[in-house]
Amino acid sequence: MDPHSSCVVFDLDDTLIDTRGLLLPAALAGVARAAGVPVAKLNASGKRIEEVLAGVEDLTPVRWAAAAAAWRSDDLPPLQPLPGVRDLLARLKGRTWLALVTRGDPLRQRRKIEVTGLQPCFDALVIRPVEAPGTKRDDLRALLGRRGLPPDRCAVVGDDPEDELLHAAALGCLPIRVPNTPLDRIPEILARTGLLVGEGRPWNR
Ligand SMILES: [Mg+2]
Repeated sequence: MDPHSSCVVFDLDDTLIDTRGLLLPAALAGVARAAGVPVAKLNASGKRIEEVLAGVEDLTPVRWAAAAAAWRSDDLPPLQPLPGVRDLLARLKGRTWLALVTRGDPLRQRRKIEVTGLQPCFDALVIRPVEAPGTKRDDLRALLGRRGLPPDRCAVVGDDPEDELLHAAALGCLPIRVPNTPLDRIPEILARTGLLVGEGRPWNR
């Protein structure tokens, strides 16, 4: 089987890196400092700064701008991919076409990818600005179109039921939710569904 006859699309935040545990607390602390409010006032599940600050009233334009800059800061602490990520990507490399599709502030997302050294693991990288209209469904559709692949030749690995898995299922791709599905089981799932070259090889090294 041609490794280019299938593709696996990965989400970044909380799929390949621990955004919620490692990056979000520092980002929220920076926003709270800049806005002059306690962290507890912020909406920690917001993806856009407008959502994060939704519960904060009477913020001056200067404070608001400083808070937005803190939220989008690309000054990141040292960051490693989640345990098992490097091993998984090494096992998939060359046996299917690998894409990373992420949504967020472009500079910050690019910086996350740089500091973790993940870029060389992927054949394609798509960063959808969080302010842009549309969803990852558009990105998945465009990727499949560019590759000339039908949706059933594509698996989508992510943590967010709405940000990527819903769209994957709606298009007819195979959604794989992490961490519910352990990373080390993914090669076996892809092989079983015919999406990985080398099916029949032993998975455990
Ligand atoms: Mg995610």
